[in-house]
Amino acid sequence: MSKKQENKIGLDFKTDWAYAPAPEDTKHITLQKQYDLFIDGKFVKPNSKKYFDTINPATEQKIAEVAEADEKDVDKAVKAARKAFEKWSKISAKERGKYIYRIARLMQERAREFAVIETMNGGKCIRESRDIDVPLAANHFFYNAGWADKLEYAFPNRNPQPLGVAGQIIPWNFPLLMAAWKIAPALAAGNTVVLKPAETTSLTALKLAELFRDSGLPDGVVNIITGAGKTGAAMVNHPDINKIAFTGSTDVGKMIQKSIAGTDKKLTLELGGKAANIIFEDAPIDQAVEGVINGIFFNQGHVCCAGSRLFIQESVADIVIRKLKDRMESLIVGDPMDKNTDIGAINSKEQLLKIQEYIKIGKNEGADFYQSSCAIPSKGYYCRPTLFLNASQSHRIVQEEIFGPVLTIQTFRTIEEVIEKANNIAYGLSAGIWTDKGSKIFNISSKMRAGVVWANTYNKFDPASPFGGYKESGFGREGGLHGLMPYLKF
Ligand code: NAP
Ligand code: MG
Repeated sequence: MSKKQENKIGLDFKTDWAYAPAPEDTKHITLQKQYDLFIDGKFVKPNSKKYFDTINPATEQKIAEVAEADEKDVDKAVKAARKAFEKWSKISAKERGKYIYRIARLMQERAREFAVIETMNGGKCIRESRDIDVPLAANHFFYNAGWADKLEYAFPNRNPQPLGVAGQIIPWNFPLLMAAWKIAPALAAGNTVVLKPAETTSLTALKLAELFRDSGLPDGVVNIITGAGKTGAAMVNHPDINKIAFTGSTDVGKMIQKSIAGTDKKLTLELGGKAANIIFEDAPIDQAVEGVINGIFFNQGHVCCAGSRLFIQESVADIVIRKLKDRMESLIVGDPMDKNTDIGAINSKEQLLKIQEYIKIGKNEGADFYQSSCAIPSKGYYCRPTLFLNASQSHRIVQEEIFGPVLTIQTFRTIEEVIEKANNIAYGLSAGIWTDKGSKIFNISSKMRAGVVWANTYNKFDPASPFGGYKESGFGREGGLHGLMPYLKF
């Protein structure tokens, strides 16, 4: 079997989510040279007249210029959202739901375009954009549309009311999906939105703006403003925003929390993670190895809930590590637009340097370094799948979020020992358990300080299930009914 054929069984995602057509035909997808801000239903030039370059990390080529919003643009967007709120919060909830359904359907129709642009701008594999990001984003709109006119049944006797204008700031790892996670519940609850995508991945959010315009959504209900950290800070500090929803790094999350202290803005923070993925000796080993591969290499490891710390029970450590190394050899790293690619491009040069720095740190700390021998393209930002064996609890590579395809491996003997080690960390976003025993799953998941615990699977997402963290992974939940609550007052 050739490597390509063999890999068809690889990091493959079968979903029963909304249908998305195959995106392999990229010829008819055209990008604009320059993208403006989307304010009050129209694309407008930024106050500063400044634009920044956005690149394709797989080729390092510039693909477009994107407007840089300053404080004046933020103010304009907030004013538009405030004006729109007066109407949007008063139309019937059923009408609101209809708009959100329409957005979901339009996204399905344009799924191919969204998938291709997501891959070009962010470096993620087309198979993932096509089969995970886009259909799941559409499903968040479908799911929340259904709640729009049922909020009083969802929260009986509590008279749920929208908050007003929501300022939403999202990261670069799932640009479209994070926009959907945030915008869909905000709209269903009757709020209006100003959203800022991350600097390196603005294009699908701007495509989404086109879709809002085409859907007939009233002007100003969603405004998309692009820029870097300063633009985000201007949103956080704007006095007429009622709620900030932030997904990103723990450091920026802490800064935001400080800046809004003393105001009456509501806040939810979805921050970093460093999840334990635990394999017991009674686990179905092949399935567990596949789950570990998916847990850390999905989306190049740019996943807040990535299973980045593997714990293997000592008696099966040798066989798990052997199978893991074999499986890593079959992973294809390279052109994200190729359907056979398993690991695409690292999102930016900055992120690649950060990952390389952590690899250096891991070697210096004395963990055993192992990398797959695959070829990587000479142009673009790439990192081979990497393991650190015999890592220890005090290592920085075990304690800190790397946000790349780098897995640390530790072994354990007893349940008590692994629970202690898994929880002994600043983060608490997610965890994975692999075992044949249901009782063990219930026992351990109740003791994990993690917002999401997967058992005998990993990285499974559904719009109906809440997602969020403990400790330095943040607070508040997104998804499910829990995800509507932060956009409502009672
Ligand atoms: P980041 O640097 O914190 O940026 C996140 C967003 O905040 C970006 O849009 C960024 O803009 C903006 N920003 C930067 N400085 C800001 C400031 N002072 N005030 C307001 N906004 C500011 O994070 P990232 O590097 O993009 O994303 C990776 C991180 O996100 C990881 O730590 C990951 O774990 C976390 N994450 C968490 C979840 C979750 O659900 N818990 C999900 C995905 C990712 P620019 O990028 O344009 O500067
Ligand atoms: Mg950043």
